[in-house]
Amino acid sequence: MYNLVIFGAPGSGKGTYSAQIMEEFGFDHISTGDVLRGEIKNGTELGKTAKQYIDQGQLIPDSLMIDILASVYDSKKGAKGMIFDGFPRTIVQAEALKAMLTERGEKITRTLNLIVKEEELMRRLLKRAEIEGRADDNEETIKKRFAVYENQTKPLIEWFRNEGVLTELTYDGDRAKMDASISAAVKAIL
Ligand code: AMP
Repeated sequence: MYNLVIFGAPGSGKGTYSAQIMEEFGFDHISTGDVLRGEIKNGTELGKTAKQYIDQGQLIPDSLMIDILASVYDSKKGAKGMIFDGFPRTIVQAEALKAMLTERGEKITRTLNLIVKEEELMRRLLKRAEIEGRADDNEETIKKRFAVYENQTKPLIEWFRNEGVLTELTYDGDRAKMDASISAAVKAIL
């Protein structure tokens, strides 16, 4: 199975490009954010715990996320490819992902790092707040999520580079060009 990680700051387009890749290449998708929002909506114990972190712009503890990820992954066995959207977000999660895949005879095929300027990220997230009404898309929480990204998640770029799986794609304001770059990057791994 192709195991593709979509990586980037909040608002960089991970969800949008996951949808594009699913449609164009028939991959399946795990969005840990969507899984957590589903748990919150259903009022589960996990949802209650997750909400406390999400509303503060903080990360859910690694041990919890790693268990969730493994069970969702196993429930989607047989897919042609899997997109990891929003996971890993820490070095501990990246090591756990690697171990989980190795146990199953799999590996991270590639990581696409979506590079977008912070002003553009903020603009998109505030726009999304109007459209989707996500509780954590307000200016104060967005700033916390950027800080969490800088401190805990961005160091992963070096980790992916060391694993030899990193592809960097920079958005220069031209949406059609970015769409085409994503498509080309996925074609390159098939
Ligand atoms: P997202 O939809 O990926 O932007 O995630 C929304 C929120 O869910 C994040 O700000 C975190 O609070 C939580 N979350 C999602 N994925 C993870 C993860 N891999 N590790 C920890 N927390 C996560």
